[in-house]
Amino acid sequence: MSRIITTISDRRKIAKDTYEVTFKCVEGEFHFTPGQYVEVILPDLLQADTKGSSRFFSITSKPDDNQNISVAFRMSDSNFKKTLVDKELGSQVMLRGPFGDFSLPNDDTKIPVVLLAGGIGIAPFLSMIRCAVERLPEQSITLIYANSKVERAVYVDELKALSDKYQNFTLILKYGYIDPSFVKRSVNNQQNCLWFICGTPMFVHNAKYILGELTVDHKQIKYHIQAGYGERHLQIDSREISHKYFNSKEIESYFLNGVNVSSNPLLEVLSQSVLISVSDPNGIILYVNDYVLNITQYRREDLVGKNYNILNSGYHPPDFFQTMWETIKSGRSWRGEVRNVAKDGSFFWVDTIISPIFDDDGQIKYYLTIRFTITDEKRAEEELHQKTEMLQTTLEQMRVREVELEKIKKATLNILEDLDEEKRVVEKKVEQRTLELQFEKAKILQVTSNMKAGAILLDGEGKVEFVNRRVYEILKVSPAEAPLDRIVSMLCEHFDEKDRVCANVERMLKGESFMEPELTSGSRIYEVYFQFLEEQNAAIPTADRFILVYDVTETKLLERSKSELVAIASHQLRTPLTAMRGNVELLMDESYGPLNVDQKELLSDMDISTNRLISMVNDMLDITKIEKGTLDMDPEDVVLKEVIDSICEDFSDYARRREVVVSINVPKNISVFVDRSRVRQVLQNLIDNAIKYGGRPGKLEIEAMLDGDYALVTVKDNGIGIPKTEHSRIFGRFYRASNTSNSSSSGSGLGLYIVRSIVEQLGGKIWFESDEGEGTKFSINLPTKKIAEPG
Ligand code: ATP
Ligand code: MG
Repeated sequence: MSRIITTISDRRKIAKDTYEVTFKCVEGEFHFTPGQYVEVILPDLLQADTKGSSRFFSITSKPDDNQNISVAFRMSDSNFKKTLVDKELGSQVMLRGPFGDFSLPNDDTKIPVVLLAGGIGIAPFLSMIRCAVERLPEQSITLIYANSKVERAVYVDELKALSDKYQNFTLILKYGYIDPSFVKRSVNNQQNCLWFICGTPMFVHNAKYILGELTVDHKQIKYHIQAGYGERHLQIDSREISHKYFNSKEIESYFLNGVNVSSNPLLEVLSQSVLISVSDPNGIILYVNDYVLNITQYRREDLVGKNYNILNSGYHPPDFFQTMWETIKSGRSWRGEVRNVAKDGSFFWVDTIISPIFDDDGQIKYYLTIRFTITDEKRAEEELHQKTEMLQTTLEQMRVREVELEKIKKATLNILEDLDEEKRVVEKKVEQRTLELQFEKAKILQVTSNMKAGAILLDGEGKVEFVNRRVYEILKVSPAEAPLDRIVSMLCEHFDEKDRVCANVERMLKGESFMEPELTSGSRIYEVYFQFLEEQNAAIPTADRFILVYDVTETKLLERSKSELVAIASHQLRTPLTAMRGNVELLMDESYGPLNVDQKELLSDMDISTNRLISMVNDMLDITKIEKGTLDMDPEDVVLKEVIDSICEDFSDYARRREVVVSINVPKNISVFVDRSRVRQVLQNLIDNAIKYGGRPGKLEIEAMLDGDYALVTVKDNGIGIPKTEHSRIFGRFYRASNTSNSSSSGSGLGLYIVRSIVEQLGGKIWFESDEGEGTKFSINLPTKKIAEPG
C-alpha cells in the first residue's frame, strides 16, 4: 500500500450527477490491479463534512495508465464530493491504497466471467474491462449493466465501442430492475460462470438473491459493495423494517418459534452479515442469530434470558442508553453507534438499530435489534481522523512556514533596501568628500601659485600633480623645459646636497614630514619643507605631499652679517668695558687716594652699570655662538652639589639683600656629564631669576635627584610667577613677562633663551610649572653619562 500526494488533473461530468475525477501521479508511483479501490484524502474541504475528509472510490482507470488514476462517483449532498468537484484543477490531494481483492482470476481456467453492475457500481468493472479486453483475449466477459434511467448510465459509449471491437466482451444494458429471468435469458450456463457483483448494498443483495435463485454456487460469486457505501449505510429505515416487514407474529414465526429465517430471502441475506436479536419489552434477550454468537463469542445460552448489559463495554455515558430507552419505549426506533465488549474482553463497534415491534393492540411486545459491525470502519475512521489531522497539521505548519518565509523575505528585502540606502549615503559622502578634497586642492593650488616659495605637489606614488611658477624660477628653466615627471629629479640636481635631497624626497613619499633649514645651490641658500599632508577624517585615503622651497639667501646673509656685526661689536665693546671695570675697581679700592662718600656712590653706580653691560655683551656673544653653532662644549663629570653650592655662595649677599632664604637639597653623589662652565651658566641664570623674581621674604629651594641616566634639578621659588598665557613665549629672545614691569628688577630677557639653547646642547631638557602669583618651579634634566652621538 502506498500513500502519495497528487494533484487533481482532470474532471468530467460523465452522466447526470456523475463525475469522473483524475489524479496525476508520477509513473510507477501507485500500483493497483483492476477492481481495486483507493482512499482519497482532501487536505481541506470547502465546507465541513460530518463524515470527514476522506472517501473510498473504485479506480476506473487502467493500471498501465499509471500516470492517471481516475475515480467515478455519483454526486450527493456530501461536502466531500462537492469539494472534489469544485476544487481547482491542480489542487493537492492524498491517495492511499490500493485496497480490495476484487479482481479477475489470474489463472488459465478461463471460466467465463459475468459482471453484474448496478449504476455507479460499474466503476471497478471499467478498469477490469479496459484491461482485460486487450490482455486476456481468450477470457469471455459479459457485463450486465443495470441502471434505473438512461441518463444515469455512465461510460455507455465507451462500453459499446469496446464490445464492438473485442470479441471476448459482451455488453448487456438494462434500464430498470433485473430479475432472475432476465439474468437467465442473458447468460447461458450460469452455473459455470464466475460472477462479480458491484453496486449499492441493495443491488448487491438483490443480485445475490437472483443468483441463489439460479442455483449458482456461492463460491462462484464475488461481490463488492460500491466503494463509499459501508454496510452501515444500508438505506433501511428501521421504522420501515418494523412496520413494513415485521409484526409481532412474524417476529415470533421467524425468530422465536424456531422457524428458519431462510424462509425470508431478505432476512437470510441480512443474517449472514448482520447481528439480529430480539428482546422482550424489559430488554431480556429472547433470540440472537448465529452472527451475534460469532461476534460476541458467547454461547446462545449465555445470552438468552439475560439483558444486553453483558455486552456493555462501559464506554458510553449512562444518558446514552437512557436516551435509547426513552426513544424505544416511546415507540420510536433508535439508531446509534455502540461499542460493545466480547467475551474475551475485546471491543467491537456496531451500528445499532432498535425497533419496537407492536402487538395487535399497539403495545410494544418485542424489540428487534439489528446491528452492523463497524469496527473496521471505526478503526479506519479513527486512522483517517488521525491522518487527516496529521495532514492538516502538516499543512498548517507549511502555511506557518510559508508566512514565516514571507516575513523573512520581506525582512531580507528591507535589509537589502537599507543596505542600498546606506550604500547611497556612503556614496554620497564619498562624493562630497572627493569634492571637498578637490576644493581643498584647488585652494592650495591657488595659494601656492602666488607664493614666494617654490611649491611642488605630489601624490602618494610620487606623481607630480602641480608645480608653481616659482619652482621654474628657482630652477631657471621654462615650464616647457621641465615636464612634470622630471621636475623632482631636476630639483634634486639643483642642490649641492643632491643625494641628501633625493633621500629626503623618498622619506617624504613614505609619509614623513620635516624641514631642511639650509640647503645650498652655489651661492643661494634654501629652506626646504618636505611635507606629508595626512587626511584626518578620510572617507577615501589621500596623502598628498608638498615640497616647499624657500630662497632664504638674503635673510640668511642678513642674519649672518648681523651676528657678525654683533660679534664684532661685542668683542670691541668687551675689551674697553673690561678695562673700565678694572679701573673702576682700582678707584673704588682707593688705590689712587681716598674717596669721599659721593665719589664712592658714583663709582659704585658705574661698577653696576659696567657689570651689567659686560654681562649683556657676554650674552650677545653667546647668542651669536649659539646661532652659529659654535658654542664650544667640553663635557666632563661635574658634581652638581659643588657647582650649586658655589653659585649660592656667590649669590649669598644678593639673596640676603633680597630677603631670600635658600635651601639646597642636592645629594653629593650626583654628577652630570656636561661642560662645567656651561652648566654653571645655566644654573646661575635659573637661581638668579628665582631670587630676582622671588617672594619677599623669599624661599628658594634647590633640589636634585637621579632619574635613570639623567639628573633632575629643580629650582623653586615663591615669587611673582609667570602668567599662563605667556608660557609659550618665555624662552624667546628678549622676552620678559608682563608682570615683571611691576618689579624693580632689570633684565634683558636673554637669560632663558640662552639657558634653553645650552641645556639642549648639553643633551638635556628644560621645562617649568608656574602661574601668576603662584611661584615658579624650573626643572632641567642633564645626562649623567656620555650620550651616544646621534647617527
Ligand atoms: P636676563 O637676561 O638678565 O636674565 P631676565 O631675567 O629678565 O633678563 P630671562 O632670564 O630670560 O630674562 O627671563 C625672562 C623672563 O621670564 C623674565 O623677565 C621674567 O619675566 C620671567 N621669569 C624668569 N624666571 C622667573 C621666575 N623665577 N619667576 C618669575 N618670572 C620669571
Ligand atoms: Mg634672567
